[in-house]
Amino acid sequence: MTVPSPALFNRRSSSSMLVAAAASFLVLTVAFGMPAQAYQLSGCKYDSAQPPSITYVKYSLPAAYGSAFDTGQYNWDLRTGSTTYFASTTSTDPNIDVYAVSSLPGGVWALTTGECWATTRTWKYDEVRIDFSRVIMDPISAESKARVAAHELGHAYGLGHVSTNCASSPAIMWNSTAMFGCWGTWPWADDVAGWDSLY
Ligand SMILES: [Zn+2]
Repeated sequence: MTVPSPALFNRRSSSSMLVAAAASFLVLTVAFGMPAQAYQLSGCKYDSAQPPSITYVKYSLPAAYGSAFDTGQYNWDLRTGSTTYFASTTSTDPNIDVYAVSSLPGGVWALTTGECWATTRTWKYDEVRIDFSRVIMDPISAESKARVAAHELGHAYGLGHVSTNCASSPAIMWNSTAMFGCWGTWPWADDVAGWDSLY
């Protein structure tokens, strides 16, 4: 398995084009290397009225990435008890737009991008975009792809990164490839506690 050195799975930022046009929302950036502790919130989430229905559209997504996304969302649903939380849609205005692109800026594995209303701290239009980097993720296992997808979904929910270890408190939001080696059903307890704090 050829895996590039650990880097950020994710950065969150606004499109520069949109940033120039509006000052009513914030640009969020999730930094690498937070101290070990319980779940972190990224500062933006879906509107409280949105669950239990988050819709998504996969845009020309290769089968391996479609499966990874499905597994990631299924596991989130399973662990949060929200068995119908996610729903595929043919709407042109879904809550999550999912793409696999050839590569991403900064060599990140995947990227969750959204704009956040400054007042309500909710996603503008309740919409984010998730991109997977094929140059990095094509070689990794289906299981690891699914974990990256679940990590990005955690960002969409409103979770930030944690620094931890498998033994004390495994977390899908651990921004390290070491997360791939943690045992058990994921997302783990710390991730679910974060979700519970938001919805
Ligand atoms: Zn991340």
